[in-house]
Amino acid sequence: PPTPTSFFLVAEDLQIQVTDRPRLKPAPKNLTFGAEFSDHMLEIDWTEKDGWGFPVIKPLAPFIMHPASKVFHYAPELFEGLKAYRCVDGQVRIFRPMENMARMARTAARACLPDFDQAELLKCIKRLVSLDAEWVPYSEQCSLYIRPSAIGTEPTLGITMSNQAKIFVITGPVGAYYPTGLKPISLLADPSFVRAWPGGSGSYKLGSNYAPTVAIQRYALKEHNCQQVLWLYGDDHQMTEVGTMNLFVYWINEQGEEELVTPTLETGLVLPGITRKSLLELTREWVREVFGSGTACVVAPVDRILYEGRDLHISTGSDHKSLAQKLYDTLMNIQVEIVVVVVVVVV
Ligand code: PMP
Repeated sequence: PPTPTSFFLVAEDLQIQVTDRPRLKPAPKNLTFGAEFSDHMLEIDWTEKDGWGFPVIKPLAPFIMHPASKVFHYAPELFEGLKAYRCVDGQVRIFRPMENMARMARTAARACLPDFDQAELLKCIKRLVSLDAEWVPYSEQCSLYIRPSAIGTEPTLGITMSNQAKIFVITGPVGAYYPTGLKPISLLADPSFVRAWPGGSGSYKLGSNYAPTVAIQRYALKEHNCQQVLWLYGDDHQMTEVGTMNLFVYWINEQGEEELVTPTLETGLVLPGITRKSLLELTREWVREVFGSGTACVVAPVDRILYEGRDLHISTGSDHKSLAQKLYDTLMNIQVEIVVVVVVVVV
């Protein structure tokens, strides 16, 4: 192929080879995680000398790589994970993808993998997703998982920066995580295992952070019947992460206030999750519940206030554990019990 004139990753240079053998899409009910892949992939090669080559979208296929490629020996590899959803209006949308691009660029710098224009890479990924749009499941519970990766491909064995690299992106439909509603998990919290440490690379999405956790995860399950590992750090056993998730605790603090807490990113022990960031942004703005109280109804949850021409929507915790519901149940129980007592007295 002709070499691009630019040193940079440019989405306009995208070359697209469409498959002549589209595969059958799996039914949403059969989907698990990461076992099915869409028809096409994105591939972009880089060399230190010439910069980024043409981005290419092509039919999903294996690579041929030299066995000395640095990634096979010293693991210069990073990845990202994000999702495209089929929304209620039928449109396909990717959730906060620039957050993933930014985290990917940050991890690339840590791994001595090349920098890239984040917005241009995202344009290429959007093109890939729109070409395989039919792979985005027609199901509210399912989604298309997007897995960008970058690897060092220089075929030499020195432990140095790889002067060749490849970004590639594959996608695939994934199933509902909780087909029957949220399901609690059990955690093994054993301080003899450490996932990340100050000055280490735990806050970056490097493949090398994950391989050593698999044995611990298996040990937790096989020996202790725990589904995930609660990763602890330090003599005081600080909680850091849960498996490959950020951790949240909702408690009443020493000042008697209800508080949602999550481990800080400042220590570098925690991956800056995009879901974590989203939950913090949401809950910082939340009025948790608004309700009225009175003899007639006991409590009346409020879900909308029209204020100066603007609708303010308030979550009503439609699940039965809302505070309004708990108060209603408790007060009703007390009232009913008193009624019973009164009846007894009258009799
Ligand atoms: N921590 C770790 C170690 C992870 O691998 C992940 C998954 N990327 C997360 C937290 C959650 O991050 P996100 O919300 O961006 O998926």
